[in-house]
Amino acid sequence: MSHNPQDLKQRLSMLEYLQRHSWKARPIGAHEEFVGLCPLHPESHPSFYVNAVKNVFYCHGCGRGGDLIRFVQLYLNLSFQETIAHLNNELGLSATGEDAVLKETAAFYQHQLDGHSEAWDYLYSRGLHDPSLIRQLNIGYAPGGTLRRHLTSMGYSFELLLQLRLIDQRGHDAFYRRIIFPCFDGGRFSNIYGRSIDNSAPHRFLPCPKGELFAWNTVGASPEVILVEGLFDLAVLWQAGFVNTTCAFGTHLTPAQFLQLSDNPTRKVFIAFDSDPNGAGQSAARSLAQQLRSVGLKACIVDLPEGQDPNDYFVSGATWADFNRHLYRAHSL
Ligand SMILES: [Zn+2]
Repeated sequence: MSHNPQDLKQRLSMLEYLQRHSWKARPIGAHEEFVGLCPLHPESHPSFYVNAVKNVFYCHGCGRGGDLIRFVQLYLNLSFQETIAHLNNELGLSATGEDAVLKETAAFYQHQLDGHSEAWDYLYSRGLHDPSLIRQLNIGYAPGGTLRRHLTSMGYSFELLLQLRLIDQRGHDAFYRRIIFPCFDGGRFSNIYGRSIDNSAPHRFLPCPKGELFAWNTVGASPEVILVEGLFDLAVLWQAGFVNTTCAFGTHLTPAQFLQLSDNPTRKVFIAFDSDPNGAGQSAARSLAQQLRSVGLKACIVDLPEGQDPNDYFVSGATWADFNRHLYRAHSL
C-alpha cells in the first residue's frame, strides 16, 4: 500500500485510469493531449481534455480540472482518504493478482453450489430454477469455513486474502451460508455480493466501491433498459427473458452509475423498484425518473402490486406476459 499521493500518481496515469473505466478519447496535436466526453456529466460534444504528460484534466463544459485524485473524488463521490484507498486497490488489481484471486474465489463458490442442497432450496424459494441462467450469472454458494484453505493451498497469501477482506483477522471467511453473485466492471472484477440464506444480515459486499451498473457491458447496448434494486430482481427478470435488466445495488445511484444510465439520450429507462408499504422505493423511483428526464431521457416507473418487488412478483407466479403488461402501463409521472 502506498499512502503517498505523489507516488500513487506516478504509478497510475490519468489516461490509464480513464481508459480502464471505458473513457473513449482521440489524441490531438503531438499526442500529448486527448479529448473525449466529460465523464463527470452528460454531454454530446467532447469538452474533456487530458494532458498525458502533465497528468492533468480540464473540462471546458463544467470548468472542472485537476489531477487524478481530484478526478476520482468527483467521479466516484469519495473523500480524499477513500480516493487514496480506491487508487491503491486499482493498482493492486494489476500488480498483485487481486483480480486473479477474486476470479478464483468466484469459481470456487460456483463449484460449491453443486454439493449444497440448502443453496438450491434457497434459489428455488427466490424463483430461480434455470441452471443455464445460474451459470450465466456465475452464481455460487459460500458455505463458509472453506475458502481460506482453498486459496492458501493455491499459493495466495493470508495477507492478500485479509487485504481483500475475503477473510477476517482471525482467518474466518467473510461469507458464510450466502448465495454469491460476482460483479464485474467491464470484464474486471469489482465486487462480490453475498445474500444470506438465513435471514441474518441479508446483504453483504466486500468493502470497496459498489462499481458500475450490473452487466452494463451488454445491457447498455439496449434501447430500452429496466433498472431494479437487487440482484434477485435482476435474476428472475433475466430468467423470464428480460435480459435488458440492470441493477444499481439499491435505489441510490453513484454519479458514475447515473452517467452510464444517461450516456445515450435516446434510451428509455423503466424503473422497477420495490413497491414497499412505506413508499420509499417509489419515491426514490420518482426522483430518479425526474433526474433522467432532466438530461433528456425517457423514464417510466413500473408499478407492481402493493408490497411486491420484481422478485416477489415472479415468485408469486407472474409470467413474462404479466410483467410485460406492467411495462406497457408504466407511466410518466
Ligand atoms: Zn465536464
